[in-house]
Amino acid sequence: MIRDFASTRLFVRAALSEGAAFDLDAKQANYLVNVLRLGAGEGVLVFNGADGEWRAALAASGRKAWRLVAAEQTRPQPQAPDLHYLFAPLKHARLDYMVEKAVEMGAGRLRPVITRHTQVKRVNRDRMQANAIEAAEQCGILSLPAIDEPVALTDVLAGWPTAEGTRRLIFCDEGAENTEPVAVLSALPRSPLAVLVGPEGGFAEDERAALRAAPFVTAISLGPRILRADTAAVAALAIVQAVLGDWRNRPAAPD
Ligand code: SAH
Repeated sequence: MIRDFASTRLFVRAALSEGAAFDLDAKQANYLVNVLRLGAGEGVLVFNGADGEWRAALAASGRKAWRLVAAEQTRPQPQAPDLHYLFAPLKHARLDYMVEKAVEMGAGRLRPVITRHTQVKRVNRDRMQANAIEAAEQCGILSLPAIDEPVALTDVLAGWPTAEGTRRLIFCDEGAENTEPVAVLSALPRSPLAVLVGPEGGFAEDERAALRAAPFVTAISLGPRILRADTAAVAALAIVQAVLGDWRNRPAAPD
């Protein structure tokens, strides 16, 4: 299936179907018309997280306003990614970066977790969502991750569903002896997955003990060096996707 990386991709909050017309907000209109210098009739790819991806043509609507008219669906809406990414929120730019990387790496749900050494106690979900939208537009995905409110690590563990086939939490433990993370992941039974990365200050000893005691947790090392939390996010999600996730060969998707 040839992917259309040439066209601009835009997240829109409008129902998409053949002939659906919707106004662009000022920021989107400015980007398409003034920055990309697209003109009437020229196409962009749009997605809304539910109706798949559509080619839409620019049309003037009134003197200065612009709108898009959806013409044809270019890709059906895929199943939302099921990988959860749990993380101690970081300060501004590093959190922006980490959210963007988690989306690119295929996280379907972002769960801020407050731990003992977490630097920030509150997160700006609108800012996180804006970063997630930009990442989704860039990396070609058609759904946006769910973004949770911050929850204390103790509550995350206490509230973890333990039914059969429950989600496994891959705990990136900077205190782990340098085990073979790929071997550890390869030995896991198939199950829904979550990844946890701690704060710049690391996990407290009692947090590490509680995590390691939980039956649904698998601790892994990310090698012999201490990675920054945002580096750890990319490293951890990469090996999880490569060993257990959607970086493995999939049966060719029907065209
Ligand atoms: N300040 C701490 C390190 C925290 S690094 C210390 O010096 O020990 C931030 C987070 O990234 C950690 O909580 C962990 O989740 C992850 N991480 C970083 N390096 C890692 C490694 N080598 N193995 C496993 N996880 C790691």
